[in-house]
Amino acid sequence: MKKENNQSMPELNKNTAGKFDVEKIRKDFPILQRMIKDKPLVYLDNAATTQKPQSVIDMLVYYYSMINSNVHRGVHFLSEQATLAYEDARLKVKEFINAVSACEIIYTRGATEAINLVAYSYGRSHIGEGDEIIISEMEHHANIVPWQMLCEEKKAKLRVIPMNDEGELILEEYYKLLNEKTKFVSIVQISNSLGTINPINEIIKKAHERNIPVLVDGSQSVPHVKVDVQDWDCDFYVFSGHKLFGPAGIGVLYGKAELLQNMPPYQTGGDMIRYVTFEKTIFNDIPNKFEAGTPNIAGAIGLGTAIDYLNNLGMYEVAKQEYDLLEYSTQRLSELKEVRLIGTAKHKASLISFVLKNIHSHDIGTILDSEGVAIRTGHHCTQPVMQHFSIPATARASFAFYNTREEVDKLITGIYKVIKVFG
Ligand code: PMP
Repeated sequence: MKKENNQSMPELNKNTAGKFDVEKIRKDFPILQRMIKDKPLVYLDNAATTQKPQSVIDMLVYYYSMINSNVHRGVHFLSEQATLAYEDARLKVKEFINAVSACEIIYTRGATEAINLVAYSYGRSHIGEGDEIIISEMEHHANIVPWQMLCEEKKAKLRVIPMNDEGELILEEYYKLLNEKTKFVSIVQISNSLGTINPINEIIKKAHERNIPVLVDGSQSVPHVKVDVQDWDCDFYVFSGHKLFGPAGIGVLYGKAELLQNMPPYQTGGDMIRYVTFEKTIFNDIPNKFEAGTPNIAGAIGLGTAIDYLNNLGMYEVAKQEYDLLEYSTQRLSELKEVRLIGTAKHKASLISFVLKNIHSHDIGTILDSEGVAIRTGHHCTQPVMQHFSIPATARASFAFYNTREEVDKLITGIYKVIKVFG
């Protein structure tokens, strides 16, 4: 008879739990030990996606090798285990962002799907002809296009808060845009191409004075700052698991229960129903009403493990380390007269966008890649930001807590090489 394989649930690496030692922390991330083109990998593309700690990887392996089963539908042992782990992860997300209830946490494929869900469901039931929706000049395309399409369909108007040349929103212009026609505000908390941290407290407060709901795109903020949806009083909050050291293909829509309860479903099918006849369907309660079909079970559980990992590090420690990297990289890049920083807001996250005179950002990325330094080049899905600065693209280095000052030095050495080759 074959021996039963009783692999137990993986645990966090206790070596790093509770302490902040970058060198030790780096060992939790197998990919950071890789050589790229015979050079140690310097991964500075964290705004695009983050690397995964071993505990998240182990959890995915554990799920598929030990408890793989569909959720919510089975009475058998595995289905119960999978459902427990899936719902336990939802509780972890709820705690992490300080939502009132786990039913306010909807799993999605990512931030993009979460925004589309709100634009489709809330938008199509609450926005009408002549209404106005406010976004900002620094939004990711994922927070522009869904609203633009909604406006076209409903003959509503998209209004845009402009920014100054530092990459800061001009709040006086926002106040002027708010009026009795405004029905929704959707704003990014941290810009993915400029690093600007927006004053969402103030933005939400002003909208709420007129009873206007606000969606906050937290894609770039969840990995860097302590999120508190109750303190900020945002109505919707969205983010992607893969930017939070979790798996790709899982994301979160937080919505206040009262709003979600009154919204029609986004997609329909299994699990989102309570009762179906050919005449009529009764929908399930939230969150299930918005989770049609078999979800990304392993992804959700892996996201829960990523949250455990971050909680053990402590978001305060994470922010401290990243702030140091931002200060140091800004200072080092400012020493180079050829560098023009794009995005110089007073309040910034650990992300730095720049251009080099007469050198295409693609060439910067290619030379840096040959040094093992991974950065992102392009418009970063924020073409209106590029239009503001009259540039086609930027080079962007974005940091996570596992990056070091030595890695910033390698970035600078690489840029010297770019200038030598192309300058
Ligand atoms: N908003 C912002 C600010 C982002 O940075 C991103 C990802 N670059 C998104 C939305 C979309 O996230 P995803 O592609 O994971 O859905």
